Amino acid sequence: MIDASTEEVVGRIPSGDEQDVDRAVQAAARALEGWAATPVAERARWLERLKAGLAARAEEIATTISAEVGTPITVAKTVQAGLPVSVTGSYPAILREFPFEERIGNSLIVREPVGVVAAITPWNYPLHQAMGKVAPALAAGCTVVLKPSEVAPLSAFILAEVVHQAGLPPGVFNLVTGLGPPFGEMLVRHPRVDMISLTGSTAAGRRVAELAAASVKRVALELGGKSAAVILEDADFDKAVGVSVANAFLNAGQTCSAWTRMLVPRKRQEQVLEIAKRSAAKFKPGDPRSPETRLGPLASAQQRERVRKYIRAGIEQGAQLVTGGPDAPPGLSKGYYVQPTIFAGVKPEMTIAREEIFGPVLSVLPYEDDDDAVRIANDSMYGLAGGVWSGDPSRAERVARRLRTGQVDINGGRFNPLAPFGGFKQSGRGRELGKFGLEEFLEVKSLQF
Ligand code: NAD
Repeated sequence: MIDASTEEVVGRIPSGDEQDVDRAVQAAARALEGWAATPVAERARWLERLKAGLAARAEEIATTISAEVGTPITVAKTVQAGLPVSVTGSYPAILREFPFEERIGNSLIVREPVGVVAAITPWNYPLHQAMGKVAPALAAGCTVVLKPSEVAPLSAFILAEVVHQAGLPPGVFNLVTGLGPPFGEMLVRHPRVDMISLTGSTAAGRRVAELAAASVKRVALELGGKSAAVILEDADFDKAVGVSVANAFLNAGQTCSAWTRMLVPRKRQEQVLEIAKRSAAKFKPGDPRSPETRLGPLASAQQRERVRKYIRAGIEQGAQLVTGGPDAPPGLSKGYYVQPTIFAGVKPEMTIAREEIFGPVLSVLPYEDDDDAVRIANDSMYGLAGGVWSGDPSRAERVARRLRTGQVDINGGRFNPLAPFGGFKQSGRGRELGKFGLEEFLEVKSLQF
């Protein structure tokens, strides 16, 4: 594995093959009956132990992910290490409340684990994305084979150690590693896998859904996004623009739910750009190990090249470059850094307004009125997230209800790890987190009396 800021090797992982996949899946299949029959209260206690194990290693998790992904250490501590602890820790309470059984007339409806789950995860929030699947799957009584991204797999090894130290029964959790499509597809095709839960690009999601269709496996997909922050004319512009820029640049823009399009009233565009430029200046690229850094490098050389290509496309297609650009930030010759970049006057048909860039690149699009803003926001194959800003919360809510996305934050509403997370349209299928995340891993059976 490569450190994103020094480009030095920081770890090596095994490149798995078909036999490794088979051994892991068979182990999960053998463990399934026992784990599924483990009383819910006991499963809740196991999850408490996993939460404690992750919390005890939070510092190491944060530094590991900060090195692999380039996440600034302050964000790595709160989000990369902190979020998996709160997500895992949410399930004991959810389990205690969850109605696993209900009566409908002469039927008893029981919810049972789906079975063996293949969890395939990306690199941007590697442990959070893993625990968003592993915690609810285990809570539901499923057994799991986790395949982390080859770009940032090291935290998954820490998780495996935590599982081992907690003493979870053998086969309940399994870890395999290998190279992207060829290795991942072995797992997806395996006949003993009952469900695939993938977080990744829309292209990978489509391919996995195709392969899973052959054996009608259940598929849950958390995919890409091109979310919009809709700033209405009566909003507090300083706050709305400042927070929206910070949202777009979080984790150097490598956030699936990032607001990468900022929709602003045409008449106020100049004022917006002035605030946006000022806000972007706070995101000076630098060493992710420093507590002052707000913008680290991208996770890989390949990702940096992809992002630079998009910036060049924005310039070529006539968008106005407000700040940033395709060249490496001054003084940073090592590391996968990209300048924080803002484009203005972006038209909805431009590539930078349509495709997921996954870097610190923000497109500002002008609109005429609320209806036009909603139309532009929804003019996307994606539908993951979004934000609405207005001085009138009920007006903001009306606009938020019209957005075709899985979540919308109103006037900077905080991320809620118990609320369902997932996408409309090509941003995915199904929901993670909280009780909705648990339901993903359950089958429904009805017994008639
Ligand atoms: P990716 O699609 O390249 O890879 C994701 C995972 O899928 C990796 O583990 C990879 O090895 C595996 N994979 C790729 N092709 C596969 C195939 N054909 N069969 C089986 N497995 C396969 O994505 P990435 O570059 O690691 O992550 C970035 C993408 O993830 C972005 O598009 C981002 O929006 C998306 N993402 C979505 C969410 C969400 O919750 N919606 C969260 C984070 C990231």
